[in-house]
Amino acid sequence: MDLTVASERSSTFERAQPANLLTLDFGDPRGAAADVRRFARDHPIGGVVGVDDDTAVVAAAIAADLHLGVGNSESAALAARDKHVQRVTLAAAGVPVPRFSLHPLEEDAAGLAGRVAYPCVLKPLRLAASRGVIRADAQAEFVTARERLRRILEQPEVAKCGEWARQFLVEEFIPGPEVALEGLLVAGRLHVLALFDKPDPLDGPFFEETIYVTPSRLPLLEQGAVRQVAQDAVSALGLRDGPVHAELRVNERGPWLIELAARPIGGRCSAVMRFETREAGCGMREASLEELILRHALGLPLPSLERERRAAGVMMIPVPGAGVLREVRGVAEARAVPLVEEIAITAHPGQELVPWPEGFRYPGFIFARGETPAAVEAALRAAHGRLHFVLEPVRA
Ligand code: ADP
Ligand code: CA
Repeated sequence: MDLTVASERSSTFERAQPANLLTLDFGDPRGAAADVRRFARDHPIGGVVGVDDDTAVVAAAIAADLHLGVGNSESAALAARDKHVQRVTLAAAGVPVPRFSLHPLEEDAAGLAGRVAYPCVLKPLRLAASRGVIRADAQAEFVTARERLRRILEQPEVAKCGEWARQFLVEEFIPGPEVALEGLLVAGRLHVLALFDKPDPLDGPFFEETIYVTPSRLPLLEQGAVRQVAQDAVSALGLRDGPVHAELRVNERGPWLIELAARPIGGRCSAVMRFETREAGCGMREASLEELILRHALGLPLPSLERERRAAGVMMIPVPGAGVLREVRGVAEARAVPLVEEIAITAHPGQELVPWPEGFRYPGFIFARGETPAAVEAALRAAHGRLHFVLEPVRA
């Protein structure tokens, strides 16, 4: 297939490759769709795929404008994009979500701290990767957390993004193990591609992720309930097509929907998923998540949506501390751990590493495959134990 990549900032090569590179204003989905309509006169477009939270909305606007047939409505994409709109929509439809309330940043924190129930979670409306999500167990913690969140939301590159950056959500903290569900929506029906356990407890106060392992070790009955809640959430939001990434917590009261995004799993993590495809004349071959997403967007036949039989996992490597990365030692030793397939160090020497909740970038990823989720998890931990990050203090 021919590919055109749209980005917010112009690529140096755009003039040399006008059919393949395009600059769009992602902050203005309708304007972007109009630009694409003009572009499509010379370069017909068969499908459109967003790659993250912002471009999911832009892709929806483009699909609607071009009458592509496969895609989400802009309102559904927006309802998935904004955590407050999402909570309101899901609560109204009876999907189990935490109790929540919306507050302006200007609201008196001490007064509010006396009114909310504990433990609670403070969170921004449109950031990602748990950036700015903070748990508070008591009034004093709430006031500190609100201050910290305010500073994050007032960083210029966040503050300029829109009115949503002047508000935040306070939610009831839902305890219990957390899972991530990767799915593909085909005409409104959710196909579960993988259900990942997150074996490290996510109890806060910050929520940097670490290990994802599939298949899930949750009892099958609970897995079924998780799928059902995810499908109910998709239907309530009105999403129809394309990848979804959902996060749920499960406790004695059943599954709770923490987040549903109309995009694939982020960063490098999609590499953990492989699909087995039987093709006429070719026998079995492996397909990536990206292949499934592109085929679906173009209305091409979908191969099997069955993930390979083996267990697989990824560790988003925790930020080892605040500082400037000098080097990473032990990569070869970590790669030598049985079942480990790849160590991808994505941070580069000289890069500043920022811990959560201000930070949102992992310094790298570890991938492993094996017969059981427990073996994969153990391999990820062993590999991580062999890595050593050398940091320098950040110069003021
Ligand atoms: P983001 O889109 O930035 O990832 P989320 O809403 O997914 O934000 O929150 C990040 C993480 O914080 C979740 O994966 C979960 O572990 C935790 N979390 C968020 N809200 C709640 C809640 N109401 N109760 C319990 N944990 C929560
Ligand atoms: Ca999340």
